[in-house]
Amino acid sequence: MKFISTRGSAPPTSFSNVLLAGLAPDGGLYLPQSWPQLGASQIASFKGARYQDVAFHILSSFTRDSFSDAELRAAVASAYADFDAPEIAPLSEIGEGRYLLELFHGPTLAFKDIALQVLGQLFSRALAKRGGRATIVAATSGDTGSAAIAALGGLPNIEVFVMHPRGRVSDVQRLQMTTSAHANVHNIALEGSFDDAQGIVKSLFADTQFAAEVSMTAVNSINFARIAAQCVYYFTATAQLGTPATFVVPTGNFGDIFAGEAASRMGLDVARLVIATNANDIMARALNDGIYASGASHATLSPSMDIQVASNFERALFEASGRDADWTTAAMSDFARTRKLELPATVLAALRERYSACASDDTQTRAAIAAVHKLTGRIIDPHTAVGVAAAMRIGKPHSPVVILSTAHPAKFPQAVTEAIGAPPPEPKRLSGLKDLPERLEILANDPALIKRFIFSRLRA
Ligand SMILES: *Cc1c(COP(=O)(O)O)cnc(C)c1O
Repeated sequence: MKFISTRGSAPPTSFSNVLLAGLAPDGGLYLPQSWPQLGASQIASFKGARYQDVAFHILSSFTRDSFSDAELRAAVASAYADFDAPEIAPLSEIGEGRYLLELFHGPTLAFKDIALQVLGQLFSRALAKRGGRATIVAATSGDTGSAAIAALGGLPNIEVFVMHPRGRVSDVQRLQMTTSAHANVHNIALEGSFDDAQGIVKSLFADTQFAAEVSMTAVNSINFARIAAQCVYYFTATAQLGTPATFVVPTGNFGDIFAGEAASRMGLDVARLVIATNANDIMARALNDGIYASGASHATLSPSMDIQVASNFERALFEASGRDADWTTAAMSDFARTRKLELPATVLAALRERYSACASDDTQTRAAIAAVHKLTGRIIDPHTAVGVAAAMRIGKPHSPVVILSTAHPAKFPQAVTEAIGAPPPEPKRLSGLKDLPERLEILANDPALIKRFIFSRLRA
């Protein structure tokens, strides 16, 4: 299996190169040259199988040229050893044919753990084989940072730099990052938005001399390894239900929902993929109005989705255009210049065959938390609530509706309190965080400054 870039001018390459590089050298995102295919009986056989075995099966179709079966099995086993649900991604019914797919049972209580734990395990194995070190620079809207730190903190030959938008993440999210005791973890509180942080990562990559000098790599969802690991739960959920489902996915950077498209391209029967956004509704506008245009970023109750540039949308555009790399390159460069892209009718039609979209504001988010609590006694987090709010508005389709539950409510006690009048109980994983010392550097939104900071820490 070789991987190609959405912009068409990077040479096809192996899984481990994709893993270690993150972004393709032509600025595009990697995708498999052709999607591996799983048969219907194979997919049905995932019902009742261990999550780790399904993950091994699906991941091996991507990783075979780079990792032996034994290496992959060991990586997957370690990745999920510290989850607090034996099913890893359990499905629970909340009534009227709606289900929550609980993706928050990992060490940092958000779905990012499911992919980043695997990525960390594969990363250290690939690096050990290749030799040398790697510098990871990650922009985070709140959850990727802590999940990357949990997955990569303390690993040899890896330095981890995590930039979060200062004051735009919840206290729990910040503490999960800044209280890491590992010497290879460096936190930056950026004076700017998540989009600014993501823009800095892209500009550091574009500085090819800098990127090569520090062996820079990305663990954001632009890294295809994350998408590969995230396909798995679409398969396990569908197999468990025994019938194709509509998946409602709280969306920011379009990685988690694109994993649903990937699963479907690999042969999974998916009824529909519903993009659920908060007030940062760039993806809802793109689907509904045909214009992908980024506006000002709003701070909402679901900060991990306060995103106005959905990086992974490039992958969906590439596929929707019939894998037209020339068009994708031109479209992305237009968008970078004008912050706006009018989708051609054929591309829009292809997207609409697969996706619907629905935006919810903070009032609707609070109402969804309250409604689920009243109906079931369950407390959901505000990101999951954006999904539930969308699911309530699409009415009752014929297929079961699976809402991806992307975070544990205890990460967002303030939003929960606003909705139901009391905070969620604190899980063991978070107790004592407040008493630990924090380490972070507050830096201005300036790529040159960030570069100097990275150099100074690497030389220290
Ligand atoms: C990252 C995140 C999302 C959005 O996922 P994308 O892959 O960026 O679309 C949703 N909810 C939570 C809790 C997250 O951490």
